[in-house]
Amino acid sequence: MFNGQKAVNGLLGLSAVFAALAFAGWGSEGAFWGMVILFMIWGAMVVLPIGGADMPVVISVLNSLSGWASCGIGFTLDNPLMIVTGALVGASGGILSFIMCRAMNRDLLSVLLGGFGAEAGAGAPGGPAPAGTVKSGNADDAAFMLKNARSVVIVPGYGMAVAQAQHALREMVDMLKAEGVKVRYAIHPVAGRMPGHMNVLLAEANVPYDDVLEMDDINRDFATTDVAFVIGANDTTNPSARNDPASPIYGMPVLDVENAGMVMFIKRSMATGYAGVDNPLFYNDNTMMLFGDAKGMCENIVKAL
Ligand code: NDP
Repeated sequence: MFNGQKAVNGLLGLSAVFAALAFAGWGSEGAFWGMVILFMIWGAMVVLPIGGADMPVVISVLNSLSGWASCGIGFTLDNPLMIVTGALVGASGGILSFIMCRAMNRDLLSVLLGGFGAEAGAGAPGGPAPAGTVKSGNADDAAFMLKNARSVVIVPGYGMAVAQAQHALREMVDMLKAEGVKVRYAIHPVAGRMPGHMNVLLAEANVPYDDVLEMDDINRDFATTDVAFVIGANDTTNPSARNDPASPIYGMPVLDVENAGMVMFIKRSMATGYAGVDNPLFYNDNTMMLFGDAKGMCENIVKAL
């Protein structure tokens, strides 16, 4: 990001449109190549500053636009197959963008008009780490606390998908249920790297649908939950999205895991998630970090149980 970026982008966009008009008017080859190069630079310049919670939305918008572009070329080439497939990609991408905008609390129109992304200087991603110490535990500690809890809510995220930990997790949950613990799963609409990512993985591990609850249906229950078991999730639990207007993810609804009696985070390090922002929850008094691979940690908890 740099000062005057919007003006530069506006100038580039206008020049590209001018070159396109010149090409359409006079059919000049120079204008054609000018248009192509200017639009390529403009595309990169417009997307580069977008960060935080807006990134998935812009990816989905670009997917949709690729469909509409191919649809347009279908008209040029008089190719009905391209028109239909392009329109399908464009429309489904558009619907997906709309769903994601709603999940991220963003306005689709402002996304399309380019009024999105973190403002220059705001909420530097990966900026200074919040002060405080971190409490870490091992699989035995986790097993002890989970077994003695009355209710547990599992919060899966991208790390569970990377580690393919859903089967080990299911085994752990089965053992807890056998001990009489009430266990449910809380799904954030953009957990993982595509909408529905977590639902698909949990279904693959035969987790009963009734145990899997959407964010809006379970968020209030965290206050009466003994343990929030966060497995490979990060941004989707970050309270900065609620409390810190300077954060690049400000405004995104998040799971209120910190309201639970205790929060366990399984992750390999203190690294940030997709949005590149620190999660102050790691330093809370009621947080226990379980450092390790999600699958390995679940397997160790199963052994300990
Ligand atoms: P995040 O990306 O915020 O965090 C994932 C965490 O998983 C990381 O902090 C990482 O920490 C940890 N991790 C990675 N590998 C492992 C592993 N093998 N074992 C244990 N932990 C691991 O995930 P969330 O699901 O919370 O959030 C999704 C993010 O992705 C949001 O920012 C969302 O906007 C974005 N997004 C979502 C899309 C969607 O449609 N769902 C599309 C594109 C982006 P560590 O490295 O320390 O292990």
